[in-house]
Amino acid sequence: MRHDALNQVSRIFLVILLVSLAGILLIIAQSLGFGLPDASGIRPQGVVSAAWNRQVALISGHAGSDSGAVCEDANGAILLTEAEINANVARLVAERMRRAGADVVILDEYDARLQGLRSDVLISLHADSCIDASGYKAAIHAYTIIPEVNRRLLACIDDAYPAATGLTHHPNTVTHNMTEYHAFRRIDPNTPAAILEMGFLGGDRALLTGQAAMVAKGVSDALLCFLEGEKAQTP
Ligand SMILES: [Zn+2]
Repeated sequence: MRHDALNQVSRIFLVILLVSLAGILLIIAQSLGFGLPDASGIRPQGVVSAAWNRQVALISGHAGSDSGAVCEDANGAILLTEAEINANVARLVAERMRRAGADVVILDEYDARLQGLRSDVLISLHADSCIDASGYKAAIHAYTIIPEVNRRLLACIDDAYPAATGLTHHPNTVTHNMTEYHAFRRIDPNTPAAILEMGFLGGDRALLTGQAAMVAKGVSDALLCFLEGEKAQTP
C-alpha cells in the first residue's frame, strides 16, 4: 500500500518533469527563431547573427520637441499627429530588433545623446504631411564622409521597406531638410545614418495607424539587410 503511493508520487513527478522540459525546449527553440509564423506573417524572427550585439539607434521623430505634421478636422481639432505615429513604429522596431539580438536605443528628436553618437546604424523615423498623397522616401547626409556605407543603407531601405509595406517611393520630394538633417551633423561622422519618411499621414493613414506592425517590419528588415551586408563587408 505504502509502496503503491510512493510509485504514484514518483509518476506524478516524472510527468511534471517531462512537461517542464518540453516547455524549456519550446522557449529555447522560439528564442532561436524556430517559432511558427503567425497568420499575418509579420511575427518577428528570432536571433539574427548579423544583428547580435550590434548597436541600433532610432530617432522617434519629433519626440520631446513638437508634434510634427498633424491631421485636423474641419474645426481645427487635431485628429492625428506625426509624433505619435513615429513613437509607435519606433517602439515596434525596437522590439523586433531586440528580439533579433541587437542593442537598441530610442532617441528624442534633439536627444543630447546624438552628440558624437557612435552606433552601428541610425534611422530617424518620420512621416509626411496630412495631404492626400502616398509613398515613402529616404535620404542620407548630403556631405557624408562614408558615402558607400550610407548608400548601402539607403539601398536596403529601398529594398525592404516597399516590400513589407507595399508603398512606392515618392519621387522628387527629398528636401534639404532631409539631406541636411540636423542629426546627421551631430552624430559621429562614421555612424551610418538615414532619415525615413514612412508615408503620408493623409494618403497612407490606414497603413501608418492600423498596420504599424508592417511598417515596423519594413524598417527592421532594412536594418537587418544593412547589418548583414556590413558583416559581409568585414570578414
Ligand atoms: Zn517629421
